Amino acid sequence: MIPLIDLKEQYAALREEIGVRISEVLASGHYVLGPNVENLEKEVATFLDAKHAVGVASGTDALHLAIAAAGIGAGDEVITTPFTFAATAEAISYVQATAVFVDIDPVSFNIDPGRIESAITPRTKAILPVHLFGLSADMEAIESIARAHGLLVIEDCAQSFGARVSGTAAGTFGLAGCLSFYPSKNLSCYGDGGMILTDSDEFSKNLRVLRNHGSSRPYHHDKLGFNSRLDELQAAILRIKLENIESYNENRRRVARRYTQLLDDLPIVTPHARSGMSHVYCQYTIRTPLRDQIRVRLSETDIGTAIYYPVPLHRQQLWRQDTPSLPVCDQVSEECLSLPMFPELQDEQIEHVVDTIRSVFA
Ligand SMILES: *Cc1c(COP(=O)(O)O)cnc(C)c1O
Repeated sequence: MIPLIDLKEQYAALREEIGVRISEVLASGHYVLGPNVENLEKEVATFLDAKHAVGVASGTDALHLAIAAAGIGAGDEVITTPFTFAATAEAISYVQATAVFVDIDPVSFNIDPGRIESAITPRTKAILPVHLFGLSADMEAIESIARAHGLLVIEDCAQSFGARVSGTAAGTFGLAGCLSFYPSKNLSCYGDGGMILTDSDEFSKNLRVLRNHGSSRPYHHDKLGFNSRLDELQAAILRIKLENIESYNENRRRVARRYTQLLDDLPIVTPHARSGMSHVYCQYTIRTPLRDQIRVRLSETDIGTAIYYPVPLHRQQLWRQDTPSLPVCDQVSEECLSLPMFPELQDEQIEHVVDTIRSVFA
């Protein structure tokens, strides 16, 4: 049996260290927004080269608070991708703004910058690219469109911790980069957690107020805020994992290289990172018209797979729009298949997955 993702091996390797740090936190009496959160914020900001990092309760909250702090609200439009987890569009809807979906690029699976300008209206306030599956969207093109039209950029980096474009970390291009530490992400904790990156002093101050009931001094509430705080246990665990993140991401790239080599002679589209982009493979997602047959065969062999995403957001009841169809996204959602991917995946396991896929074509 090969699972889509195995979190137990990583825990086994860190078990002692995590045990010690958890005991220290429990003994300290400080459980929410304490020294571990503060240090984690500094360490993440340093690692990704952002000026500020603000810990919050989840990736969804990171998006919601960033959008709210950017002053986006009712009547505003935010341009984003339909090929993403629902949280991206939920965060836009939470502030009563409208998500405007633009079709994706068939190779990167990310928003197609060539289609953004025709979606801009006088109500457009921001572009919200998602760096899907661990690969950065085309930030150079997106930034230049945003600059030309006076739009904000807020990045959904939930799946791309450590992804870079010519050395610059995904999440540090726009006004804000929103991270998730959910267990299935590249840098992950054992519960919910999130963080917002920004270079703006003012914006980071606003976020710190918003995440803590709108108060900058205890019991003085200047704005309507939220309870969205990161806790010390998760922060302590994340600090340990941050020390290993380069190795986790390098191992994900090793797994991806092996898959790509072995799948090379099959009529399957494998993930491809443009030169200068470093992919961190939160998912290894292939494309093939035989997707459903392959999925059944793998499942009969006890190999885990997933379809991210079977129903794009422009096809969901909540966000269905009169927009013209988004044909690339529709086709990709019928052909995509995510294979087992985690840093500890062994060569023999990768070979077994590919042999099983090969048997479908035999
Ligand atoms: C996981 C994810 C989120 C939400 O993160 P949570 O921490 O689960 O709230 C948002 N966007 C994308 C693209 C994600 O994959």
